[in-house]
Amino acid sequence: MEVVNSYCISAVDGTLSSLHKVYHDTQYGFKAENDNELFGSLILEINQAGLSWDTILNKKDSIRKVYADFNIKAIAAFTEKDIETLLDNSGIIRMRGKITAIIHNANQILQLQKTTGSFENWLNQNHPLPIEGWIKLFKTIFKFTGKEITKEFLMGNGYLEGAHEKGCPIYEKAIAAHPKWYTEKS
Ligand SMILES: [Zn+2]
Repeated sequence: MEVVNSYCISAVDGTLSSLHKVYHDTQYGFKAENDNELFGSLILEINQAGLSWDTILNKKDSIRKVYADFNIKAIAAFTEKDIETLLDNSGIIRMRGKITAIIHNANQILQLQKTTGSFENWLNQNHPLPIEGWIKLFKTIFKFTGKEITKEFLMGNGYLEGAHEKGCPIYEKAIAAHPKWYTEKS
């Protein structure tokens, strides 16, 4: 099959920078290993809105650090003082709307963990849904999760098809990790 995903084209061409290569080859399309990391990928997607993925990958370590190593419980407890500290940090994306949405979402995930056991269980219980269904569902629960953010989060974690094209050197490796979209199909 023709490779049309630009990320995969660059992987075939060998033109991905090392930063992008690590993300493309080891994370994109592979489900995060636990709830905090799942939320971490949503945090990165929310931070990206309106900016390049390059910017986010360059700041990802600082973002992880200020967002309590993506600990959902810790983020849910962030106070106004914490928000001010984040807004003062030039190493991250300083936008109040994104920060408060992330705190809101952390609280929502704590609730999902109470009712379904984990954020992952909740995703699995709702899977499979067409993309429109996911977007609608995310909008009822989370803030700052528009179409692109929801789609990239789900694709990046293997709930939706399309992270890697057939012909991409990582395609088989991604399938071997049993992404939800593929398990559903077979
Ligand atoms: Zn690829």
